[in-house]
Amino acid sequence: MPAPQAPANSTPLIPILQQIHTEAQALFGQGQVADYIPALAQVAPRQFGMAVALIDGSTFATGQAHTPFSLQSITKLFAFVLALKLEGEGLWKRVGREPSGAAFNSMVQLESEKGIPRNPFINAGALVITDILTSRYAHLDIAMLGALRRLTDAPDLSWNGHIAKSERETAHRNMAMAYFMKSYGNVLNPPELVLDNYCRQCAIEMNCAQLAQATMFLAHNGQDIDTDARPGEQFLSPSDARRVNALLLTCGAYDAAGDFAYRIGLPVKTGVGGGIVAIVPGRGTVAVWAPELDAKGNSVLGAFALERLTQLTGWHHG
Ligand code: GLN
Repeated sequence: MPAPQAPANSTPLIPILQQIHTEAQALFGQGQVADYIPALAQVAPRQFGMAVALIDGSTFATGQAHTPFSLQSITKLFAFVLALKLEGEGLWKRVGREPSGAAFNSMVQLESEKGIPRNPFINAGALVITDILTSRYAHLDIAMLGALRRLTDAPDLSWNGHIAKSERETAHRNMAMAYFMKSYGNVLNPPELVLDNYCRQCAIEMNCAQLAQATMFLAHNGQDIDTDARPGEQFLSPSDARRVNALLLTCGAYDAAGDFAYRIGLPVKTGVGGGIVAIVPGRGTVAVWAPELDAKGNSVLGAFALERLTQLTGWHHG
């Protein structure tokens, strides 16, 4: 990561991030690390990192911004973007684009809605997306890592085998949902194979600085920015980037999406590893990580840090 420098818009990001880091530490102990995936229960709870990347290429960080963590549901964003690039509008026959208002792993809507999940960012929707990608790639993990390694310029980026195995061995609810959706014809591949791919995907690790870089195309009209390693490219069309941000704003934090929109007002994606990524369209991206979660599975310190950042910078949607 380059040395901190004054951002183009002259917002004093370095002291702001330091202030947020100090304030956030007062919230340690208010949440709990995820323990329904046994390997995640082993993560030390009192950790905090935050990174901001701006479209002019400058980056700013505080705390453990270079410590890798388990992306978990944040990968649903990347999987969805890959599927959207491949399937286009046809995708919407198999998954909706409405907030669910229910827990990320809820199955209650699936029966009345005939196996069509509400959106791609809840578990049921992500399983359908994984099924779509499983039909396209013989080795989905390699395809996904290839895209992410390029976006982050990190050739060693990978998924954590211990966490993937731990989730796979306890994925009873996700397996049940995959079978249930298969009964409606909305999962085409064997559920076991879909779950193998899904658990590997969820176990991908990145640090905050890499996550901010990986999502930069969403802040920049679908275009990745130039890095030291390579020129930027149009990763997604500008209109699709806008649509993805709209979905992240309305569905990116599960049944807390309304609360996040109210408090933070930015497109976000959260994960039970304690990470949150936020998009500031036209400006940059913010990644924050703190493993202690609230009752809805979102990072307590992460949500606080983003709320404070929007207050202190005036960055918000619209
Ligand atoms: N792998 C997790 C699961 O399927 C992801 C959930 C999350 O991050 N909210 O339960």
